[in-house]
Amino acid sequence: DYKDIATPSRTKEILKKYGFSFKKSLGQNFLTEPNILRNIASTAELNETDRIIEIGPGIGALTEHLARSNGEVLAFEIDQRLIEVLDDTMSPYNNVTVVNEDVLKADVKQIAESVFQTEGSIKVVANLPYYITTPIMMHLLMSGLDVESMVVMMQKEVADRITAVPGTKAYGSLSIAVQYYMDADLAFIVPKTAFVPQPNVDSAIIKLQKRTTPLVDVVDEDFFFKLTRSAFTQRRKTLWNNLISYFGKDEATKEWLETSLNECNIDPKRRGETLSIIEFGELSNRLIANKK
Ligand code: SAM
Repeated sequence: DYKDIATPSRTKEILKKYGFSFKKSLGQNFLTEPNILRNIASTAELNETDRIIEIGPGIGALTEHLARSNGEVLAFEIDQRLIEVLDDTMSPYNNVTVVNEDVLKADVKQIAESVFQTEGSIKVVANLPYYITTPIMMHLLMSGLDVESMVVMMQKEVADRITAVPGTKAYGSLSIAVQYYMDADLAFIVPKTAFVPQPNVDSAIIKLQKRTTPLVDVVDEDFFFKLTRSAFTQRRKTLWNNLISYFGKDEATKEWLETSLNECNIDPKRRGETLSIIEFGELSNRLIANKK
């Protein structure tokens, strides 16, 4: 029996065998703490009926724990050099498929449909490349895949923004974009020392779970997301000032905004960061209903 891939000695052995050198530009910081990998997998609550998607398997440190759930695992790895390594390290498992693609360019839904043998919702589990955390999260949420939960590691600062509640400094359009779809919680913090090479920042695992009922019924999601982004353009400005800079300062536009805010009982002097997702949803619906 092999030691876990994430043990410092086995990781070193694998890297040496393949003469692997880390590419900073691909966010390659590998976990070398078997306990943390175990905790990530257990936070995801996997079982043999699950379809699991991993982004960035590296040398397979997390992938082997996902495979041990006996669910089906699909992993996207951009670095071609890691494909032969994974062929080797994943050889004990017959439930892992590695796809050598940039996940951001991949049609994840179509690939998932062709790889997974069974139907149903999907669990995403990953230690994300930090330079593209937010684009990957949005790509997966918008992919049309039925994502039931996501357990993902990222820099702590981004985890704080994603899980933030209204009225806090970290709360913004990213919190809303994610929490509109998913309920978001911080699971645990991971110190820099758990990685080779060590990143400059601390990391956190967050757990997202698909909402069973939407927080608010939004008539036009595109418009809703534009509205939320516009409300945070300049954080120190009032909601009103951000809205008129975005929608226009002419009288007709001002009246449209004022009426709609009024009907939602939202004080235009508030700052965007104090509005809940439900308030943004209601305002967005009102603005559309009142549009001339
Ligand atoms: N899962 C491993 C672990 O936990 O030790 C490695 C995680 S490392 C933080 C991120 C991984 O994502 C690297 O293996 C990197 O090559 C890969 N990666 C970076 N950009 C990617 C992209 N656009 N698509 C797919 N994989 C990517």
